[in-house]
Amino acid sequence: MHVTFYGATREVTGSFHTLVTDQDNILLDCGLFQGRRKETEAKNRVFPIDPKILTNMVLSHAHIDHSGRIPMLVKDGFSGRIFCTRATADASAYLLRDSAKIQEGDAAYLNYKTAKVFLAQIKTGGGKTEISQADQQEIKALLKSGDHDLRTEVAEQLLRDHHLEVIVPLYTLAEAEESLEYFQGISLGETVTIGQDLTCTLYDAGHILGSAMSVIQYKAGGQTKTVLYSGDLGRFDKPIINDPTLDFAEEHRNIDLMIMESTYGNRFHEPVVDMKPLLKKVLIETFDRGGSVIIPAFAYGRTQELLYFIHELFLAKEIPPMPVWVDSPLATNITNVFGEHPETYDEETHETFLRNGINPFDFEQLQFVQTVEESMALNRDTRSHIVLAGSGMCEGGRVLHHLRHKIHDERNTVLIVGYMGQNTFGRNLQEKGEEYAANGRKGDPPVVRFYNKDYPLRARVVTLGGFSAHGDRKEMTRVLKESNLSIKKIALVHGEEEQSFAFAEYLRSEGFTVEVPLHGQSLTV
Ligand SMILES: [Zn+2]
Repeated sequence: MHVTFYGATREVTGSFHTLVTDQDNILLDCGLFQGRRKETEAKNRVFPIDPKILTNMVLSHAHIDHSGRIPMLVKDGFSGRIFCTRATADASAYLLRDSAKIQEGDAAYLNYKTAKVFLAQIKTGGGKTEISQADQQEIKALLKSGDHDLRTEVAEQLLRDHHLEVIVPLYTLAEAEESLEYFQGISLGETVTIGQDLTCTLYDAGHILGSAMSVIQYKAGGQTKTVLYSGDLGRFDKPIINDPTLDFAEEHRNIDLMIMESTYGNRFHEPVVDMKPLLKKVLIETFDRGGSVIIPAFAYGRTQELLYFIHELFLAKEIPPMPVWVDSPLATNITNVFGEHPETYDEETHETFLRNGINPFDFEQLQFVQTVEESMALNRDTRSHIVLAGSGMCEGGRVLHHLRHKIHDERNTVLIVGYMGQNTFGRNLQEKGEEYAANGRKGDPPVVRFYNKDYPLRARVVTLGGFSAHGDRKEMTRVLKESNLSIKKIALVHGEEEQSFAFAEYLRSEGFTVEVPLHGQSLTV
């Protein structure tokens, strides 16, 4: 049996590994490479293997960097089953549709931009063309209808007529819908056949709702070979979902190769337990000022964790009752998926909510905003409230409308609960807000620019750490040392080089045999 690594090798996106026996080709995850378009476009367009040769696929969890190329896989001829937990299958239905809309939107925008540049060149006499002045005017008017809607078909036709490159989305909404037919949800601990003499059993990975580690076993010629793929590993004592599994079935304890993530192989997080008092403090202080709290939050996981904590604080009457709005259609759908999968909840969630017949994601103050009109109306609500909206890094989405209406008012708080990538608007807000606070909020407030306008950042900006979905070095090591596994070799994936190398060195010093595979490298099991 061979395992080959084609994605998330010395980087954190594009997870894609194959496991090959004499009879079968199994794919472990089919993630999208994320980052700057220039760097990821070519890597995303073409698969390193022909999807037609694959027998089946195992999906660790629904995050797009693990699942985001599944619609392409099906489009390119994959005809097997995609095994994952039921919660992952349900979450994927929303996340892949959302991803398809982003792919379609990006392609439409790029084609629109090329068309505009082309028309501008004609105007300045820079390009050869046979379009009359009147036709140019008409095309320009057609390119945009209203403020936001791009006329994609007009732009694409123009590009085709003039033999310019038309960007085709990686996949369409229809293709994403079609790929959902291939998902097969299974239970944790259930062993399914995924090839000849080949089985798969899923265990909790504790990373996000539905996330699983997979134990893949090949029994042939009187020998048993076992591979454990960690997917992404979560933290211990996180709210809602179970911790990563430490107790594996007897027959799954001897691991020949563990493919393990290493995102934070060189980091140590704040403990999970410290978050609720801080959240409480921020909510009360803002309420006492008569202000509101805006939380830019990722739709899958972070939004639900916050709702869970806020609900707990309400139940304990530790914060005054105030309306809580979830203003993101995706977050709303995903919150419903959380509500539908109580089998994934941890003991504490059962204790606090389920045993008392309470759904953690349904409480009096909580409301889900559906339409853009409702979202706009929220800005006229003068009561203190909490609003959770996307995008998580404030790069777009409805959160920007809320910021536009609230950022100038010092009574309000922008609560940052997730990682803000470099050069994102969220990072800009975070850095300027924190610097202003560090200087005692003296003098003119910093200015931030969005929607082509400058805004004074008088609202307070507070960062609440500890929400990471990935375990740190201590937590990942705990899975290795406190579980009942015996591991012959570890292959580290899903980490920047610096994180993976440091973690590898540490694990070697603890007596493990560790490799950090390169793209395309194979290991024999
Ligand atoms: Zn993940």
